[in-house]
Amino acid sequence: MKKIILTGDRPTGKLHLGHFVGSLSNRVELQNSGEYDDIYIMIADAQALTDNADNPDKVRENIIEVALDYLSCGIDPEKSTIFIQSYVSELTELAFYYMNLVTVQRLQRNPTVKAEIQLRGFAENGEAEDNLQRKGTPVGFFTYPISQASDITAFRATTVPVGADQEPMLEQTREIVHKFNATYGPTLVEPEIMLPKNSACMRLPGTDGKAKMSKSLGNCIYLSDSAADVKKKVMSMYTDPDHLRIEDPGKVEGNCVFTYLDAFSRPEHFAKYCPDYENLEAMKEHYRRGGLGDVKCKKLLIAVLEELLAPIRERRSYYEQHIEDVYEILKRGSDRARATAAATLEDVRRAMRINYFEDSELIARQAEQFRK
Ligand code: ATP
Ligand code: MG
Repeated sequence: MKKIILTGDRPTGKLHLGHFVGSLSNRVELQNSGEYDDIYIMIADAQALTDNADNPDKVRENIIEVALDYLSCGIDPEKSTIFIQSYVSELTELAFYYMNLVTVQRLQRNPTVKAEIQLRGFAENGEAEDNLQRKGTPVGFFTYPISQASDITAFRATTVPVGADQEPMLEQTREIVHKFNATYGPTLVEPEIMLPKNSACMRLPGTDGKAKMSKSLGNCIYLSDSAADVKKKVMSMYTDPDHLRIEDPGKVEGNCVFTYLDAFSRPEHFAKYCPDYENLEAMKEHYRRGGLGDVKCKKLLIAVLEELLAPIRERRSYYEQHIEDVYEILKRGSDRARATAAATLEDVRRAMRINYFEDSELIARQAEQFRK
């Protein structure tokens, strides 16, 4: 069986360090490993519209930002197909059929959907009789796990590299695949989730210490941030609120600076930028004991992040001067993606027995039956 990757991002803002460690760096590595037959990377504009229906310009403006972030991180359009979700209309048709295989109750139990409804304040209407701020959950948003299942299965993806917040989505996709194949015969490929190996990268916290760095929470370090912005954000990062004086013992758990060092630092960074410590463990040990200030740790983190971000920034500034070419890449990718999805849709329609015109046996049999 072919090894195929599908992942993507919502064009609701620029990409940040959470995207990088959660999924993007994995994609680049997998792309360059040469072990995969096809890699599809989707800019999920249709999904972004499910909770931004009133703000299409936000989505429109951010498509190029996400594309620039991909290219500057090393996604190579010769090796990977970057495409725009709404241009592959086959995906919507697939989702429509999959809706029959999922219950409302099952969607309501999806923990990511629950958390995201909460986060966006959609749930605040409750059953309240007259709440003027009533928003409610758009049906499209509520059903986005189903649309994600069609994105994944349309490309017959075997591997989906994502952050830990996407685990329930993958589970839901796998259920849909089982149900479909059991009902209509073996047709769809069951995908596997690929989580980051480093546990600090599964769900990178925000600079404010909140559970997840997220565009919607405004607690991000963006891949396109200037060196000055990165420095400012790290210097005001959440650490241990009880670590008031340098000599006080400090807490490493839940301390963002150390979580980020867990995610981004490598042993060789210590020799280069902070030779007082052999490695991160030695630094943590000193911090716990007391006598190590936040500023020193933050300076190390700034150096480590700069080493990562400077080349990304540089490649970005090249592509920023070639925007027409980037759109051409997206157009070509979208055409290619569409052809793949159309082939899967054909299999799906055949399996579901809704391919009437192709079915000469059906037509002949009914002709016979009615002629009698
Ligand atoms: P939004 O707030 O619009 O949902 P987001 O910042 O959550 O945006 P998505 O586009 O929903 O970003 O996520 C894209 C991919 O990045 C997914 O694979 C997701 O798991 C991963 N990801 C996003 N944030 C993080 C994070 N903080 N840590 C690890 N992975 C993340
Ligand atoms: Mg998200």
